[in-house]
Amino acid sequence: MNLDQPDATPQIEDSYYILCEDLFKIYKQEDLEVVALRGLDLKVRRGEMMAIVGASGSGKTTLLNILSGLDTPSAGRASVGGRNLLTMTSADLVTYRRKEVGFVWQQTARNLVPYLSSLQNVELPMILEGIDAGPARTRGRELLEIVGLGHRLEMKPDRLSGGEQQRVAIAVSLANDPPLLLADEPTGELDSQTASEIFSVLYTLNQELGVTVVIVTHDPAIANQIDRVVAIRDGRISTESFRRVAFEGREAYVYHDEYAVVDRTGRLQIPKEYLERLDLKERARIRLEGDHVEVLPEDAAPEEEEA
Ligand code: ADP
Ligand code: MG
Repeated sequence: MNLDQPDATPQIEDSYYILCEDLFKIYKQEDLEVVALRGLDLKVRRGEMMAIVGASGSGKTTLLNILSGLDTPSAGRASVGGRNLLTMTSADLVTYRRKEVGFVWQQTARNLVPYLSSLQNVELPMILEGIDAGPARTRGRELLEIVGLGHRLEMKPDRLSGGEQQRVAIAVSLANDPPLLLADEPTGELDSQTASEIFSVLYTLNQELGVTVVIVTHDPAIANQIDRVVAIRDGRISTESFRRVAFEGREAYVYHDEYAVVDRTGRLQIPKEYLERLDLKERARIRLEGDHVEVLPEDAAPEEEEA
């Protein structure tokens, strides 16, 4: 320990690999401000595979861009593997993007260099990292085999199907052996059969290589296969669901057990459907009823005074 330079930053809980607390991202466009993340909390353990769902515009891509070091948060805390994403220098961020995270985009074309073969696409990040051609080639082949494309090494992206292109993209993202893989709607442009194959590839990488996987998805068929799914609404986590298997006689069925997320100051989001049904706006009455809390519309009768 260096006593001359005490670390002023509070110790970040190291049991979580990804830790976001009260995270804000504000985009400024001329005199307009867009709050894309507003006090988002998220914890992900090393080696976990989890999913993020949410309506378009809720802040999913913004969050992934921050976690991948492509964008910087406006306020709050965000750390990955103990690295503070708010205080990293731009040089650190470059190294971070090259070595710590792999990224797969929804737009298949954006992931690959069109005039390079599958193998060359996978080799490229390694060459940029200064790895020799021989080892880069060997690892490139291995990765393409892992994603099931050992027979497509020399093909260029335009000769591959959408699903094959995403497999190459996954291999590219893992070229420099990052511990974290971020995928932003990686199956958004694929049919359901191909989407489920891509999901299997990600699952295998998570199980066999121990890569932490965070996947943004709109696809309920994909989300249903993931143990923990968090939903973003309006720049904050609103619900968290856990995959459970139940038995009815000898039949097993899978369902997601959903919880509303309560933040450190006690805020939680009431589902939009309930807000509308009860016409809840601006103010509500909250009552403690023994073992639970009731939330009532503003015009509900006030609580009876105790005699
Ligand atoms: P999602 O991926 O869930 O669809 P995004 O993270 O892309 O949502 O966007 C969240 C909000 O932030 C949206 O209102 C979007 O218009 C806005 N936004 C995203 N990127 C920018 C940007 N570069 N400049 C201004 N506003 C942005
Ligand atoms: Mg998005």
